[in-house]
Amino acid sequence: MKKELGIFTFQDLLEHFPYRHVDRTKVSLIREIGPGTEFIQVAGRITSVNLLGDKRARRLVAEVRDASGTLELVWFQGINGVQKLVQVGGEFLVYGRVGFFQGSPQITHPEMEALNPGAGGALPGGVAQGVSGTGVSAPGVSLPGVPVPGRPDHLEPVYPTTEKLKVRGLGGRQIGKLTQALFNLLKERDLPENLPESVIPKGGWLSRYEAYKQAHFPTEPALHEQAVMRLKFEELFMAQLRLGLIKSRRHRSSKGVVFGQVGELFNRFYTQYLPFELTGAQKRVLKEIRRDTGSGRQMNRLLQGDVGSGKTIVALLAMLLSLDNGYQACMMAPTEILARQHYEGISALLKEMPVEVRLLTGSSRSKMRKEVLGMAAEGRLHILIGTHAILEETVQFQRLGLAIVDEQHRFGVAQRARLWAKADTPPHVLVMTATPIPRTLAMTAYGDLDYSVMDELPPGRQPISTVHRFEDRRPQVMDFIRYEIGKGRQIYIIFPLIEESEKLDYEDLMKGYENIKAWFPEPKYWISMVHGRQTNEVRDTNMQRFLAGNTQIMVATTVIEVGVNVPNASVMVVESAEKFGLSQLHQLRGRVGRGAEKSFCILLTSPRLGKEARERMSILTETNNGFKIAEKDLELRGPGDIEGTRQSGLLNFKLANIVQDKELLELAREKATVLLEEDPELTAEENKALKVYLQSQHGKTAWSKIS
Ligand code: ADP
Ligand code: MG
Repeated sequence: MKKELGIFTFQDLLEHFPYRHVDRTKVSLIREIGPGTEFIQVAGRITSVNLLGDKRARRLVAEVRDASGTLELVWFQGINGVQKLVQVGGEFLVYGRVGFFQGSPQITHPEMEALNPGAGGALPGGVAQGVSGTGVSAPGVSLPGVPVPGRPDHLEPVYPTTEKLKVRGLGGRQIGKLTQALFNLLKERDLPENLPESVIPKGGWLSRYEAYKQAHFPTEPALHEQAVMRLKFEELFMAQLRLGLIKSRRHRSSKGVVFGQVGELFNRFYTQYLPFELTGAQKRVLKEIRRDTGSGRQMNRLLQGDVGSGKTIVALLAMLLSLDNGYQACMMAPTEILARQHYEGISALLKEMPVEVRLLTGSSRSKMRKEVLGMAAEGRLHILIGTHAILEETVQFQRLGLAIVDEQHRFGVAQRARLWAKADTPPHVLVMTATPIPRTLAMTAYGDLDYSVMDELPPGRQPISTVHRFEDRRPQVMDFIRYEIGKGRQIYIIFPLIEESEKLDYEDLMKGYENIKAWFPEPKYWISMVHGRQTNEVRDTNMQRFLAGNTQIMVATTVIEVGVNVPNASVMVVESAEKFGLSQLHQLRGRVGRGAEKSFCILLTSPRLGKEARERMSILTETNNGFKIAEKDLELRGPGDIEGTRQSGLLNFKLANIVQDKELLELAREKATVLLEEDPELTAEENKALKVYLQSQHGKTAWSKIS
């Protein structure tokens, strides 16, 4: 139970909610069974019992009859025991899942409960006598639609479980027995109210104790609904409150570096070296950054801008702002390739300016490294660009004012804290990502960050045309590639490699590579290949050859997903595209369409596609809007699968679902915001219970990581 379901404590058991309920308070007529019937409970008399089949296919088949009809019952296992219990003439309450075998209803392995055991034929009036079809069966015991005496007065919960546990007798319904036992011990005061008056809606809500009870053992469906609603709200509200607390504490406690002025460097770059006019969105975000960094509080901003929206230049201008105010800046990228690209791009842009820029990655040689570290510590270095190597403790700045984290919305609270440790006053942090984050997700997983969006592409971009082709059109696709290469363009061909460790995927990749090579033989064509099993050097070399235009085709896995900029690449082919998620495909195709040429993305899939995969392909061919795609992705896959949020622990709601419970989430957010505005430290008497509750949850939440 512990390992299988993660249930360790009573609390865990309480929070292991049933996924549905069965109504065993009622008895139905056999006649009522329809094609849509799932589970049913009937009362009747056994009219026949037969052992059929030989050894291997042995089964026990019985027939139960009530006033309205007959139903077949089948057992494949435990036949001996059943034979003792179930005999012709016996009267039973029969419960189970209805299946249809050759058109007639049956229940396999039903639950049998003898009625009035010992007094055979005790069904008043005799159910089986009603066969002629009077419709109504015996009063008292089995009248359909009325509560059965001695039956539970609540709907019976069915819990998620695992095959392993089922075998050990802990099936979806047995867990209910444990929960029931727990509830027999629990008193109202064990689950005290934790929501203050002010957030409970006018109509009132079930108390916390009552809500838990009704969520597990509802006396009627409507109460179950109310209970679940309350508990969902509670989850969402507590999450919002925690995030709000993190944010407001940081705002109050952490004094930020003040960038009081826009100075010489910024202005000179802006007027002399900026290679293009900024888009409206870029200007707006810069204003937001300027306001944050001038406020005296520490900035923690998440900047989302679709692929190609021009985040790098915004980052550079922000760094110049930092320099103008006497502070250093750094920028971190997720891969070495990307870090180098940023380094080269930014160095080139700044080459006429008195700014020292250096690169630091895991593979920086130690001599170089030493020099860079020295410069950073002494303040002679102005901008440091690199990979996670920057986070290492040995990297110390004299006066770090701004840290930029590129393409890593996964960059968590804890990692950000490591950046803050690099200076007495924590530097401003700007996290940039091309992954569009739906509003609901931004509110939950990243609720402690301020959030900017760049929703505008630089002018003159041609939208990428995306098409979906089945495997059998491969020859045409290859012809098209040849035609584009003929025009001097470069091509990406992406293979799915979901887990970099999966052997099968690698075999596919190698086979795919050979196949492409057969279409595009040397020496007319040259192919680069990049994947996660290569050493950094090999991967780098291959990447560089493609960047330099020495190879026309790049066969790669998703390691090239983020950030890489090869404006001359105009076609992306995604092999087995059905294996990728929506957002990932959108990210991938953002590698093309970065230059002036018309670009294409071709999604190759097997002709046998499930409904959901089909939908994904058609969404991608229809829209280039990252937000629409992200919303859809969230809808199709659920938040648990959205990259990077799984580990954050902030989305592990037991009941709530940020897609389906959007409105409840908005409400929770609003209530939490108002409450924190009025009582930021939760010191008011009416919020005491809330504070006690939050503290009792310490260690389970992201909050504890901070305070
Ligand atoms: P991303 O947001 O994906 O990181 P980049 O910063 O790499 O995008 O920018 C993509 C390309 O667009 C770069 O070649 C960059 O020089 C160019 N670019 C950025 N901003 C503008 C602009 N305002 N006008 C024209 N081109 C721009
Ligand atoms: Mg970028």
